[in-house]
Amino acid sequence: MLKGRCHNFNAGPAVLPESVLLEAQAEFVNFRHSGMSILEMSHRSKLFEDLLAETETNLRQLLGISDDYSVLFLQGGASLQFSMVPQNLALKDRPMDVVLTGNWTQKAVKEMKRFGEVRVVATSEAGQFRYIPSVSESDFDRNASFAYLTSNNTIYGSQFHEFPDTGLVPLVADMSSDILSRPLDVSKFGLIFAGAQKNAGPSGVTLVIIRKDLLERCDTSVPTMLQYRTHAENHSLYNTIPTFGVYMVGLVLKWIRSQGGLAAMAVANQAKATLLYDAIDQSAFFYCPVREDARSLMNIVFRIQGDNDALESKFVSEAQKVGIVGIKGHRLIGGLRASTYNALPIESVKALIDFMRDFEKANS
Ligand SMILES: *Cc1c(COP(=O)(O)O)cnc(C)c1O
Repeated sequence: MLKGRCHNFNAGPAVLPESVLLEAQAEFVNFRHSGMSILEMSHRSKLFEDLLAETETNLRQLLGISDDYSVLFLQGGASLQFSMVPQNLALKDRPMDVVLTGNWTQKAVKEMKRFGEVRVVATSEAGQFRYIPSVSESDFDRNASFAYLTSNNTIYGSQFHEFPDTGLVPLVADMSSDILSRPLDVSKFGLIFAGAQKNAGPSGVTLVIIRKDLLERCDTSVPTMLQYRTHAENHSLYNTIPTFGVYMVGLVLKWIRSQGGLAAMAVANQAKATLLYDAIDQSAFFYCPVREDARSLMNIVFRIQGDNDALESKFVSEAQKVGIVGIKGHRLIGGLRASTYNALPIESVKALIDFMRDFEKANS
């Protein structure tokens, strides 16, 4: 790790690979001999168009995205997708089927309800979202407009380790906090979206992968900017794309490739998560509230026994003093959370575990 940098467990925006930061720094003032920074360049210049094409190609290769899908680089965050998805994909008098596993899904449901009937087909809400409910194809209405889920619950620390079969109903997934963390069979999905700022780059870029036949569903009365069709037809250049953000996503994708692709990411993420979950489980002081089969490899939620808020605050502030940052749990549920995205080095996990042991000794 570079001198002076902290162990960054932020949930998002989150840690980026140091080599990516250095690369961006090196070509910041004069990008590829153009005489200008990428920030100062037309989004319609050949240089930028090449960069966009290269970024899309790298994303397609990493995720194995076929030509049946369009790849879009949008703005508005994952949160805008909560309303774009139903506005583009809801069909008249056909429900939207949702597997409800946390706060981000609840927010999506709130928006979907503006555009039609929402059916919650399964939820772990009564169990404080501490597990992923099991669902099978027969739970979904065969006439549903689409089925919807959040692949990784950033706040509650749970994750789908396999996805339900939804038959002919297009499956839509919010993958904001685990896209590119493991190999994925994109062909199972109708649409995937992700805000880039957890695992794919900086904030300001939203990745959308949409099966091309679904582009045709949207009523043309929907505002132009809110139709996926507009962005697909214009290769994400209908209006000014967030150029710098796309460039950073491009650098992150190249870094993932250099590390061995998504299979290598999955191995590294599993190793980090196993270390930390084992340390939590073996301690009589800390515990993890999430059911073992549902635990996230990206956001590791834990607490101090007795849910001692004061002691947890002390943990957070003392950790900060030794350069361990971003481990306060989400304000909705309190407690502690370590986000261990692709770019977080295993050294940071080891530093956290060492600190946890010291803190436990001093405070139990
Ligand atoms: C962070 C997050 C969001 C919100 O993303 P914005 O880009 O801030 O709108 C939505 N869904 C999930 C799963 C997230 O982790």
